[in-house]
Amino acid sequence: MFTREGGITINFADRYAEVRRKVREAALKSGRDPRLIKIIGVTKTVDVERIKEAFLSGLKDFGENRLQEAEGKIAALPNSVNWHFIGRLQTNKARKVARLFRLIHSLDRFKLASFLAREGQERGKSVPVLVQVNIGKEKTKAGLDPEEVKDFIEDVSTLPGLKICGLMGIAPFLAQPEEVRPYFRSLKLLFDQIKIPGVEMKYLSMGMSNDFEVAVEEGANLLRIGTALFGERRLEG
Ligand SMILES: *Cc1c(COP(=O)(O)O)cnc(C)c1O
Repeated sequence: MFTREGGITINFADRYAEVRRKVREAALKSGRDPRLIKIIGVTKTVDVERIKEAFLSGLKDFGENRLQEAEGKIAALPNSVNWHFIGRLQTNKARKVARLFRLIHSLDRFKLASFLAREGQERGKSVPVLVQVNIGKEKTKAGLDPEEVKDFIEDVSTLPGLKICGLMGIAPFLAQPEEVRPYFRSLKLLFDQIKIPGVEMKYLSMGMSNDFEVAVEEGANLLRIGTALFGERRLEG
């Protein structure tokens, strides 16, 4: 299946190869092992046929930000897909999201943590989550302020049924990818500073279509990439 853009036709496999090439180059440039960096294809507004095409091209991790939109896609794709929840999560949807998704990137408050933990306890398997950090301290963005993160993780790490696995951040939208470097760097510093018993800081989820190369250079190991893989999205409702 093809997407037309500026009169040029580009298929998914070509875009995917290009993104992987850029990830590899950014990793090598900064002395990192490219194999430890995972690309998550962000499929919000992308239909099932195109997600299947991406899956057949070798992409196995997909990210969605809305439960309603994701449910049909999850049912239509093979079980071997790893689904990532990357959007704002309401407590009334928390338990279902915990069941359907492999990793939740957007834990940002204690009440949500306790709902997720309850689900984890009931099924006897901890729910893996990342704590979302508002790295640009933007009013419009979710996430904890960087200064709150350590205390928050200490608090929620005591909840049985929940497993904190790392941090997620969204950089401010800036014209030049280079301008986001300080934000990514400070998130990586925070990530490295967290030493809490029972908490293994494993994943650092940062970098999107505009800035993923900088994110790789600054230490990201999960990249959330939509547009660069699937083309421009139609307007989100
Ligand atoms: C939409 C979205 C992305 C992907 O954005 P692109 O710029 O299209 O790569 C990544 N992370 C989150 C949280 C998103 O909502």
